[in-house]
Amino acid sequence: MKIPQDRLNRYIGLKRDFAEEEYINLQPIQRGGILTEEARRAILEFGDGYSTCDWCPPKTARLDMITDPPIQQFYQDLAEFLGMDIARVVTRCREAKFIAFRMLGRPGDYVVLDSTAHYSSYLAADLAELKVKEVPNGGAPEFRLNLDAYAEKIEEVKRETGKLPAALLLTHVDYLYGNLNEAKVVGKIAKDYGVPLILNCAYTAGVMPVDGREVGADIITSSGHKSWAASAPTGILALEKSLEEKLLARAKIEGDLTKRKFGQKELGMLGCTVMGAPLITLMASFPEVVRRVERWGEEVEKVRYLVTELEKIEGITQRGMKPKMHTLTHMETDGFYKVSETHKRKGYFLYDELRARKIVGIQPGLTKHFKFNTYGLTWEQVKYVKDAFFEIAGKYGMKIS
Ligand SMILES: *Cc1c(COP(=O)(O)O)cnc(C)c1O
Repeated sequence: MKIPQDRLNRYIGLKRDFAEEEYINLQPIQRGGILTEEARRAILEFGDGYSTCDWCPPKTARLDMITDPPIQQFYQDLAEFLGMDIARVVTRCREAKFIAFRMLGRPGDYVVLDSTAHYSSYLAADLAELKVKEVPNGGAPEFRLNLDAYAEKIEEVKRETGKLPAALLLTHVDYLYGNLNEAKVVGKIAKDYGVPLILNCAYTAGVMPVDGREVGADIITSSGHKSWAASAPTGILALEKSLEEKLLARAKIEGDLTKRKFGQKELGMLGCTVMGAPLITLMASFPEVVRRVERWGEEVEKVRYLVTELEKIEGITQRGMKPKMHTLTHMETDGFYKVSETHKRKGYFLYDELRARKIVGIQPGLTKHFKFNTYGLTWEQVKYVKDAFFEIAGKYGMKIS
């Protein structure tokens, strides 16, 4: 099979549509993953294949043992930064969750998780052959989780199966409403029952301060490409020392003919994980990440300002808990929906109007509700976004109070 040259040529010189310098991108999953200059340079330096492996120690042959570049030290600093004992970089947050589930549970065991968990939490449980028991939320308009129900759900699992769930999972900030959950409450329940708590910090660690020890998390998972100014794929798995043997268990398999064994390799990591440029971007951005979480208070001020302003437009209200504690925001926008009903571009009109003003990241076609994330925008940009929405609302005769 010969692929025609003109088709192959299409893969060369690809350009990104929404260059960061030209557009304001409000896409919720993209704000925390914008690279630092240092990370951009690191990609060029470490772009080749297994670029981290020049000095892999031959005895152990493991990524976490490499000292040049200083991966071993980085893992220690990463753990310390999260208030945990041990850290590993894996390919994605979802992989970190899968590894935790797989190493903690046995097929048929339960995980108790929040009903605002990301789909990948469910899939990670599924792949690990675990079942889920969901902790309910209070529905509209706040979608607030009933955190005390973790205890009830543990009891339910006990009644059904005669044993405890393999783990609890709490989404620190959910991807739907940007609600910040008080992890301490679940940390306490986890300790009381002796069930490990996985705190999923995909949207929090790396942009805001997170201290696993303080809240009683046994495991923290996070996403480098979402919240740590790193390239995809990068994820973080951090754990307490007490879980080391379980989560980082070594491979036991043996070749039946050769009797080969791989006892140095960590099974859940399949030996090594991110052995190239993405890991180095995570490391190169780390000094800035350590600084930027201290500026979280101002990020919250900016989003609260924007929400207050947007709610002045008729038919626009914020969904989720108030006041905002996180920059990921869900707006219900009946006002725009009404306009879309008679607009020739239907639901796409809002996207078009925003795009014409160099604002992207609001999902095209959606006008009943949409999500945005203001993380890392300057005050000037936040005000520009506000002005753009006011202009569009005004153009279509929506009232602004
Ligand atoms: C984005 C997100 C994920 C997925 O992160 P990956 O690194 O892409 O696997 C998982 N959980 C939550 C809560 C998220 O918001």
